[in-house]
Amino acid sequence: MTEDQTHTPAIDTDLLIGGSFEPGQEPGEPVLNPRSGRLILDLPEASTDQVDRAVAAARAAFADWSRTTPAERSAALHAIADRIEAEAGGFAALEALNCGKPINAATNDELPAIVDCFRYFAGAVRCQSGTVAGEYLAGHTSMIRRDAVGVIASIAPWNYPLMMMAWKLAPAIGGGNTVVFKPSEQTPLTALKLARVLADVLPAGVVNILPGRGQTVGSYLINHPGVDMISLTGDVATGRKMLDAAAKSVKRTHLELGGKAPVVVFDDADISEVVEGLRAFGYYNAGQDCTAACRIYAGKKVYERLVADLSSAVSGIALGLEDDTQNEIGPLISLRQRDRVASFVERAREQSHIEVTAGGEAMGNGGGFFYRPTVIAGARQSDEIVRREVFGPVVSVTPFDDVDQAVDWANDSDYGLASSVWTRDVGRAMATAARLRYGCTWVNTHFMLVNEMPHGGLKQSGYGKDLSAYALEDYTVVRHVMVKHG
Ligand code: NAD
Repeated sequence: MTEDQTHTPAIDTDLLIGGSFEPGQEPGEPVLNPRSGRLILDLPEASTDQVDRAVAAARAAFADWSRTTPAERSAALHAIADRIEAEAGGFAALEALNCGKPINAATNDELPAIVDCFRYFAGAVRCQSGTVAGEYLAGHTSMIRRDAVGVIASIAPWNYPLMMMAWKLAPAIGGGNTVVFKPSEQTPLTALKLARVLADVLPAGVVNILPGRGQTVGSYLINHPGVDMISLTGDVATGRKMLDAAAKSVKRTHLELGGKAPVVVFDDADISEVVEGLRAFGYYNAGQDCTAACRIYAGKKVYERLVADLSSAVSGIALGLEDDTQNEIGPLISLRQRDRVASFVERAREQSHIEVTAGGEAMGNGGGFFYRPTVIAGARQSDEIVRREVFGPVVSVTPFDDVDQAVDWANDSDYGLASSVWTRDVGRAMATAARLRYGCTWVNTHFMLVNEMPHGGLKQSGYGKDLSAYALEDYTVVRHVMVKHG
C-alpha cells in the first residue's frame, strides 16, 4: 500500500555514489508517514559493495577537493544554499511528509535555518583565524595550517533530517573534507533530494549518500578502514558504538548525543513568559529535540501557578488537525517511539507523588502516531521521568527549595547539552548560568539557535560542536609547518 500520490511530492530514491545515481542493492526498508501510519515507499538500502564504492569515491575526490581554495568551497556552499532556497517548498513538503512535521514548521523554521547554515559556513571558511606565523626559534619560521581531516562518515538522526545533514555537510565540505553520509532509515527522503543538488554543484565523490539501517549500512561504514572520522548525531548507545569502531583504527569522532535539558525557574521569574516559553520550547517537534525544555525545576512560591498555567496552556496546543496549516506540532516519528513515550508516562503515573496534569494519552487520529502534550507534576529528582530522555511531548515539573538545590539537581544528570534559567535578577541569572554544566545555557528563553554560535554537549551528550567557527575547527586539523632559513 502506498500513499495517495496526489498528496505525495516527487520522491528521489537513488543513492549517490561518486557523482552517479543508482538504486540500493539490498531489500527495501519501509518509510512511513507518521501522520497516517501508512507506507510512503520501500526504499532499498545500500549494499556493502556500494559502501565500499562510496568510500573509494570519497577518497579519490579528497585529493583535489582538499586543495581547492576557501573561495572555491565557499562558492559551492553558496550554490547549495541557493538551490535549496529555490526548491524550499519541495524540501519542506517532503520533510513534512516523512517526519509528520507541520508544513509551516518545515517551511518557516527549518528551511530558512538550513539555507542560512550553508551560507554561514560559506562565509566562515574564508575567514578562519589562528596563531600568528613567526620566528619562535631563531632562524626558523613557524606557521599553523588548518587542513582537512579526510573522509568523514556522517550519520544523522530522524528528528531534523535535512537540518542535521546541513549541520554536518557544510563544515565538513567547507573544511575540505569529503563525506559519505547516511540518513536515518526512517527519514531518508530529503537527503536523497539534496543528493540531486549536491551532484550538480560538487565534483564527483565529494559527497556520497547511502540510505540504510544503522546495524547494516551504518555499522559497515563506521568500521570501514577508508574512513578517517565519524560524525554522529544520535543516541548515547549509538555513540558508544562509534567509539568502539573508532578505536580500531583511531578515527576521529564528533558526537552529538541526547539531552535532558533542565529549566530552572526562580520565584521572581515572569511566570506568564515562562509558561509561554515552555509551551513552545518543551513541545516543539513533539518534544523530539535533544534540547527540549523538558525538566523543569520551579521555586516553591511559583510552583503551583506554573503547573496550573502550563497544564492549561499545553492543553491548547494544536495537533492532529485535518488542516495541517493549523497544527503547531506533529505526531511522533513512529509507533515504537509513541509506545516508548507512553510507557514513560505510565510508569510515572504509577508513582503516588506524581500527578499527570495535562495529556498523558495517545490520540487515535486515523493511524497517526500522535501523543497529547503532557505535564507531569510533583516529579522527584530520583524519578525515571526526571532522569531519562523521553524524546516526546512530555515535561516534568519539580519544586525546589533554594538555588543550591536547583543547581545540584539540574547538574545531576548523565546529559549535558542544554539548560535555561528564568529570573528577573540578572546577577542571579549570571551566577546560576556559570554553575550549570551544560553546553548551552539560555536566560529567560530556551531553544534558540543561531548558525554563528556553537551547539554541543558535555558528559554523555557527547563532544564536538555543530554550527559556528568551532564546527569548522572540529572538521579540520591543526598542522605546524616550520621552515629553516638559509
Ligand atoms: P539513533 O542513535 O538510533 O540513530 C541515529 C543514527 O545512527 C541513524 O542514522 C541510525 O541508523 C544510526 N545508527 C544506529 N545504530 C548504528 C550503528 N550500530 N552503526 C552505525 N550507525 C548506527 O538515534 P535516533 O533515534 O535516530 O535519534 C534520536 C536520538 O538522537 C536521541 O537520543 C536524541 O537526543 C539524539 N539527538 C541528539 C542531537 C544533538 O545535537 N545532541 C540532535 C538530534 C538528536
